[in-house]
Amino acid sequence: MEKAVSLPVSVYALGGLGEVGKNMYCIENDETIIIIDSGVKFPGVEFPGINYIIPDFTHLKNNRNKIKALFITHGHEDHIGGIPFLLQNVHIPVIYAPRLACALIKNRLEEYRLSDLATIKEYDSDTRIKIDRFIVSFFRVTHSIPDSFGVVVDTPEGRIVSTGDFKIDLTPIGKDIELTRMAEIGKEGVTLLLSESTNAEEEGYTPSEKNVYDSIDDIIKNAQGRLIVSTFSSNISRIQQVCESAVSHNRKITIVGRSMEKTVEISRGFGYIHVPDNSIIETQDIKRFPNSEILILCTGSQGESMAALSRIANGAHKDIHIIPGDTIVFSSSAIPGNGVMIDNVINQLARSGAEIITNSILNDIHSSGHASRQELRLMLKLMNPKFFMPIHGEYRMLRLHAEMAKDLGIPQENIFVLDNGDSITLSKGKVKRGYAVEHGNTYIDGKDINSLAEAVISDRRILMDDGMLAITISLDSKKNVMLNRPEIYAKGIINQGNQKYHDELVQLIDQGVKEKLQTKTNFSELKLLIKDIAGFYLYKKIKRHPIIIPVIMNKN
Ligand SMILES: [Zn+2]
Ligand SMILES: [Zn+2]
Repeated sequence: MEKAVSLPVSVYALGGLGEVGKNMYCIENDETIIIIDSGVKFPGVEFPGINYIIPDFTHLKNNRNKIKALFITHGHEDHIGGIPFLLQNVHIPVIYAPRLACALIKNRLEEYRLSDLATIKEYDSDTRIKIDRFIVSFFRVTHSIPDSFGVVVDTPEGRIVSTGDFKIDLTPIGKDIELTRMAEIGKEGVTLLLSESTNAEEEGYTPSEKNVYDSIDDIIKNAQGRLIVSTFSSNISRIQQVCESAVSHNRKITIVGRSMEKTVEISRGFGYIHVPDNSIIETQDIKRFPNSEILILCTGSQGESMAALSRIANGAHKDIHIIPGDTIVFSSSAIPGNGVMIDNVINQLARSGAEIITNSILNDIHSSGHASRQELRLMLKLMNPKFFMPIHGEYRMLRLHAEMAKDLGIPQENIFVLDNGDSITLSKGKVKRGYAVEHGNTYIDGKDINSLAEAVISDRRILMDDGMLAITISLDSKKNVMLNRPEIYAKGIINQGNQKYHDELVQLIDQGVKEKLQTKTNFSELKLLIKDIAGFYLYKKIKRHPIIIPVIMNKN
């Protein structure tokens, strides 16, 4: 008879540790890799021209034959946005996702014309999936998007639980969190818990979506004029609340902003947002109704310059102009760093005579989708794990979450605050540090889907040693002219100290592109030209080979 040997199971993140975004957690043994989530991160202003950052997939490529499945916890971009890129790098035999996430993933893959590369299967609370020697099951949690789940992976070496994104909302909009089931999972025994840390700095409990619903409903009920509500297009629970309240107070809804339209369309199609057809109107038709019967739902709560709300605020929107008596509701919180942009938009709106309502302790018009400290403690109590690894958060959030776990009695040596690429191994119910796996950032210039393969830039060493340069040119491709001087954003290279190089380079690119535009050319040729000019110039002047990212903004 064959003797059972112990084969260690390793757990590591390729993204999601030390950052909020590009979540990707892997569980691997000698023959199998399963992946939990495949997200993107949205780069801040320091990466112009870069649309997304995704994990470096080298480790997965090197172990491609072991990859058996990808499990998705919920449909947010930081958990599903990387799928099109992952599929182009490695073969994923099957993607398991909950209902709404399935719809969002399918829609995304159609946009990228990649539907053929993926088999997508739906799971829910009572699905159990056997993958080699792993058995995977799920429990429902509450979050800011319907159909969010935690994942349980039973391995011969012990049980691993990953919470996914959650908050513990006892009066949710939508289905309940499965607390009794979670308690059972904990009672049966959890070897290693991975729990999200986004709000590990917030004491107490995250307010329930029910409070938010009541506050928003109050505002919608009492407003005299038009209402403009701005939130994230990913916050489907919130959009649902706003729409349903608008309908109940006899307001017609118009949706502004492409991502918001898409979200509402998919969510209505799947029955997550209940709005009768005759309550949704085209934006140009708002004049046909009294102001008191209009609700405008839009994106741009972060002051993003291209989003609907900013365009409305600065008078650039075709159909919507602010009039005195409008009430504008910001149902979101400011992402750190966006404060100035948001203030600008608010000032512009106020100047036009609108009343502005933002979230404050007086009106609960926004609540986070993530667990605050008491809920994180509750999760730790319910799961009662032997070993703990905080995930989904900046380093300080992971640290605070780790301290909480220690205060609740998990020994310090059983708690692992890791970086992306660090691994731990489970063997016979014990967990210890393992070898690191290859990891890093991959930058994607996603405007250019056709040349994706070339546009994927992944050399972190170059970035560290030689810096990075994004060069943006604005074109009118119909008239074949440049609309502005080229703009250069540099990181780790030609900064304030050498303005001269900066100006010379702008001049060279300006000249080069103008000449090229005299001939018949295309975007990839232009990008290549910019790369050549800048690469040659920088090597000649300062002996450096930075990453050069040409970006073409086209008006047509
Ligand atoms: Zn989420
Ligand atoms: Zn997330």
